[in-house]
Amino acid sequence: MSDTMTDTVIPFGYELDEEHLMLRDSIRDFARNVVAPGAMERDLKGEFPRDVVKQLGEMGYQGICVPEEYGGAAMDPLASSIVVEELSWADASVGVINSVQNSLVIDPIMKYGSPEQKQRWLPKMASGEWLNCFSLSEANSGSDAGSMTCVARPDGDHWVINGTKLWVTNGAEANVVLLFVRTENTDRRNASCFLVEKTTPGLTVGKHEEKLGIRGSSTTELVFENCRVPAANLVGERGQGLKIALTGIGGGRLGIAAQAIGIAQAALDKATDYALQRRQFGKAIAEFQAIQWKIADMATRIEAARALLYRGCEAKKTKDEAGLMRYGAMCKVFASETASFCANQCIQVLAGIGYCKEEIAERLLRDAKITEIYEGTSEMQRLTIAETLVKDPGRVGNV
Ligand SMILES: Cc1cc2nc3c(=O)[nH]c(=O)nc-3n(C[C@H](O)[C@H](O)[C@H](O)COP(=O)(O)OP(=O)(O)OC[C@H]3O[C@@H](n4cnc5c(N)ncnc54)[C@H](O)[C@@H]3O)c2cc1C
Repeated sequence: MSDTMTDTVIPFGYELDEEHLMLRDSIRDFARNVVAPGAMERDLKGEFPRDVVKQLGEMGYQGICVPEEYGGAAMDPLASSIVVEELSWADASVGVINSVQNSLVIDPIMKYGSPEQKQRWLPKMASGEWLNCFSLSEANSGSDAGSMTCVARPDGDHWVINGTKLWVTNGAEANVVLLFVRTENTDRRNASCFLVEKTTPGLTVGKHEEKLGIRGSSTTELVFENCRVPAANLVGERGQGLKIALTGIGGGRLGIAAQAIGIAQAALDKATDYALQRRQFGKAIAEFQAIQWKIADMATRIEAARALLYRGCEAKKTKDEAGLMRYGAMCKVFASETASFCANQCIQVLAGIGYCKEEIAERLLRDAKITEIYEGTSEMQRLTIAETLVKDPGRVGNV
């Protein structure tokens, strides 16, 4: 990818330039021809898409924004979102696997990792040799991340980690964990971040969750029992953990918004195709105004969600942290509710057959729901948006 791509300013709205269009066409082709065909079976079996993820690594999509010096594709946040949207159109599980790899793990390492750490870890991640996971949540610590109890205590040139983490996407398959644990017992918010290789003694994969949707992605516990991690694996400074986690989640919201838009677009495409073909009362159901309005509402919300997402991508690219916080939260909450709305409308358009597993509509509805929950629930996104407005109301629309 040439340097000009990262220099291109995307205006508010979303006219893609030539390079982003080429990228979109290429990942769309892969998503529709390679990812989509196995999606239904993986959903039914709860099967991780190993082959697809391997190919994504070989094509450079597992290290989209990693600089070329570390073997990455050196693309921008908009490119990353385009990839997640197109993958999620075909299979939302593949979309989130890619988003976790790039936004939740690689981004924080690029921002807070030392030059030596970047040299050690980024090439393996960018090539797809290493699959990443991000481990912040615990049984009693979800939205309130500062209440975590998993703890690391210093011991010579190592840290010793104890505790159990929950709901780790890619938890079973990942080679490395970006882990957040408390490092000071006295201060509930004082956490630190470590990169832990999965082969480290004392780290085991616990319970696998049986989920409503994104069943092709794995979600597991990670159990740490006297797990000794070299001090050289501390990312950023001791005590910076929650700040680093927020960096991941800040960019991750764009990834989940992109995932949600992919699901919503798939629902719109399915509903439109079906409405044009399905005949009742002697005409295509697309001729009934009741059906047309559903399609109009779906399309309008998707366009609005995508515009918000691209605004968030621009904020991330220009390192506008306040803009990323506000537009990241706005696009995440709006896109995720759009995904659930569109998947629900899609089933309504397909009616009986939409409720059955032989059509993708019911999977889209199951997959959509998680986008309202992870990487910050819709309630927490609204809190974030309101907080930025109350703190600095004059900046609405002009961040
Ligand atoms: C499939 C799946 C994959 C996941 N992947 C990961 C992962 O890879 N890594 C990781 O670390 N975590 C992951 N998570 C965890 C996820 O991020 C949390 O579930 C999420 O942050 C919400 O936390 P909680 O479930 O504990 O809900 P809680 O925080 O207990 O919230 C319960 C309800 O209360 C509301 N609420 C809480 N606090 C407030 C408040 N202050 N104001 C208003 N409402 C509030 C919430 O919005 C929600 O409706 C995953 C979860 C799932 C289900």
